[in-house]
Amino acid sequence: MTRGKLFVISGPSGVGKGTICKKLLEADSNMRFSVSMTTRAAREGEVEGVDYYYVSEDKFLELLDEGQLLEYNKFVDNYYGTPRGPIVDWTESGHNVLLDIDYHGAFQVRESYPEAILIFIAPPSIEALKERIRGRGSETEEQIEGRIKQAMDDMAQADRYDYLVVNDDINAAVWQVQQIMRIEKGKED
Ligand code: ADP
Ligand code: 5GP
Repeated sequence: MTRGKLFVISGPSGVGKGTICKKLLEADSNMRFSVSMTTRAAREGEVEGVDYYYVSEDKFLELLDEGQLLEYNKFVDNYYGTPRGPIVDWTESGHNVLLDIDYHGAFQVRESYPEAILIFIAPPSIEALKERIRGRGSETEEQIEGRIKQAMDDMAQADRYDYLVVNDDINAAVWQVQQIMRIEKGKED
């Protein structure tokens, strides 16, 4: 059986990664989503085990110490990481896996899985990004400014990715990611 591929999606917070991933998963029942672990609080509407596994900082550091995380990063006072077990199980049973993680994590994944495909999602403009974060309504103005500063840092990494997709129209962005996946799935291992 062909080993499943890892598709890593990164980009600034609020750019639409979650929205894109949801649409990709709805369109492909064979694709699996890597649910990350985080020490941040759940946002309104987020569900344990679907959006994230919400854990205490102590628990997170314990799992990290045990080698149970494929990668991790600290972002705006909270830890985020990818549980290793599901990735190994899914890729070995032939499923392609989608990861929504930041660039620190993406490059750690590339170290462990050099064949992983890294896709960067960019906003059409910084103003549009601010509006999306505001529209989500889950951050204070101060937190939004923090996320915009972080966004500039994220954008500087875009050219280290295999592909760049601008999320202006959501359906066009999803379509472009699907084309990338088709091309990559068609390549010989
Ligand atoms: P991320 O996962 O990157 O933090 P989200 O998927 O939560 O971002 O999207 C942030 C906000 O932007 C959400 O309210 C979402 O509905 C909205 N959004 C996503 N893509 C677009 C788009 N192409 N145009 C306008 N709004 C968008
Ligand atoms: P948010 O709090 O908006 O859900 O996520 C904040 C940032 O953490 C985003 O850039 C997101 O991509 C990143 N992130 C989410 N999960 C992980 C993870 O498992 N590992 C890493 N390195 N970053 C993650």
